[in-house]
Amino acid sequence: MIATLEPQAASARPIEELRATASASRLNTWLSCRLKFYFHYVLGIRKPRTASLYVGHAVHGVLKLWNQARWRRDVLTTEQLKRRFNTLWWQDQRHSPVRWDDGEEADEKQTAWSLLDLYFRESPIPPNERPQAVEVSVEADLSAHGLPRLIGILDLVRAGRRIVDFKTVGQTPSDEKAIHAHQVQLTAYALLYRANAGDIEGGRDLHHLVKTKTPKLVVTQQGPMTEAERTRLFKQLESYSEGVARQDFVPSPGLQCSFCSFLPDCKAWH
Ligand code: SF4
Repeated sequence: MIATLEPQAASARPIEELRATASASRLNTWLSCRLKFYFHYVLGIRKPRTASLYVGHAVHGVLKLWNQARWRRDVLTTEQLKRRFNTLWWQDQRHSPVRWDDGEEADEKQTAWSLLDLYFRESPIPPNERPQAVEVSVEADLSAHGLPRLIGILDLVRAGRRIVDFKTVGQTPSDEKAIHAHQVQLTAYALLYRANAGDIEGGRDLHHLVKTKTPKLVVTQQGPMTEAERTRLFKQLESYSEGVARQDFVPSPGLQCSFCSFLPDCKAWH
């Protein structure tokens, strides 16, 4: 059990640097709570990862290996993938600690592999389908609109220009709620794709790996970005840019506080 891990070293960022660029995750943090944004991005405070976050990280890491292998026209067997998973599980904790409760790690590791095993059996992606892009860093210059440069990493772009993002979740999502909850990310990815591919995406898919007792795969599909979505994102980026410039870092107490690792820092804030 590791219950008293110290936060990792802080790496503060200047306000001007944060105003110059924005990613979907940075924007989402800003929109959910500006004080959390301040702790994480301005002060650069890093907390030990939770078990749930680490499961998502490990699952994502193995899916990345699987996608990269298909891009190289390579085939990884389930045994090879499991060996990579075991290595990654131990290796990544050496760089960034995880906050495990007693006996939690073995169960979480089993959960993570069960999700991957299910995905490799039930994925809608054929094993011989070559991706268009895997884990590619992209950016879009929005200066013509007076907005920060948008940056991001696309997990996967399938043949047919379908942008795919992987989610590890605790509850079965409905299509409508998933699309709404991830709208910033889905719109940002479409903008990034268009800016870099010079083409319109074929669609945007969320592949949810659900951590229910019996793991489930839920695929939510959405078409190309609409003009209304683009306008919403631009307005949100405008609010981000102006708010960061004003240093408008106030707390937004709500349901999200139950999962916030900055709660002690937040209580001390005035
Ligand atoms: S505890 Fe709640 S209000 Fe405080 S920083 Fe976290 S999310 Fe924001």
